[in-house]
Amino acid sequence: MRPVDAHCHIDFEHYSDDREEVIKEAKDRLEFIIDAGSNLENNEEVLELSRKHQDFVVPNLGLHPTYTESFDQLNDIKEQIKSEMPPAVGEIGLDHHHVSENKMRKRQEEVFREMLEIAEELDLPVVVHSRDAERKAFSILKEYSLPDVMLHCFNGKPELAEKAVREEMTVGITTQVLYSNRVQEIVEAVSVEDILLETDSPFLYRGERNSPVNVIESAEKIAEIKDLEKDEVIEASTENAVSIFGRP
Ligand SMILES: [Zn+2]
Repeated sequence: MRPVDAHCHIDFEHYSDDREEVIKEAKDRLEFIIDAGSNLENNEEVLELSRKHQDFVVPNLGLHPTYTESFDQLNDIKEQIKSEMPPAVGEIGLDHHHVSENKMRKRQEEVFREMLEIAEELDLPVVVHSRDAERKAFSILKEYSLPDVMLHCFNGKPELAEKAVREEMTVGITTQVLYSNRVQEIVEAVSVEDILLETDSPFLYRGERNSPVNVIESAEKIAEIKDLEKDEVIEASTENAVSIFGRP
């Protein structure tokens, strides 16, 4: 079984010069990749990529918590999700790292809740960003009845990760696992069955541009931490990705 990159932003301008090459390299080594949209325009680009690479790129449609200037697109994005019915709603969530002003944090929470409502109504999984707001995001998520929750790029306390997997949520482990003690502790705290490999490309690769194929390096690192074979890590993660998002 080959690995999946369960969360990336291959639609971003970072790939405008060589996007097709990056996708080709990923096709050679991965099962499929999941591209998460951040606002109305990104969502369109994600959809276009998923149509162009129907057997490989899985679209998620969302409204990213740091895209505050796009919050007025909320209703249009909800309509877009209803008509496109993506395999999951994301990227959505809370970000208290980039957004410090109280009024804007409130608005961010309203947007998050509206996106959770639409996911609940359509019975779709959600992909949640929760930077510096992990506890709050967790308690809000528990109010909704959702088929699946991926805690993308989780950086909260390892105890919170344990709690989340007891609630059947899945923890996205990015390439940060290669260098972040916190993420390595999270990997130790949860079972390999609760993990999704993801890169969050173009970000989180020691300051260099990330690429979906780097999930392979993460799988090696996780195997080392958990004293498993790399293939066991890949298999568990790919099975999770298929069960949450389906195959392209
Ligand atoms: Zn992301």
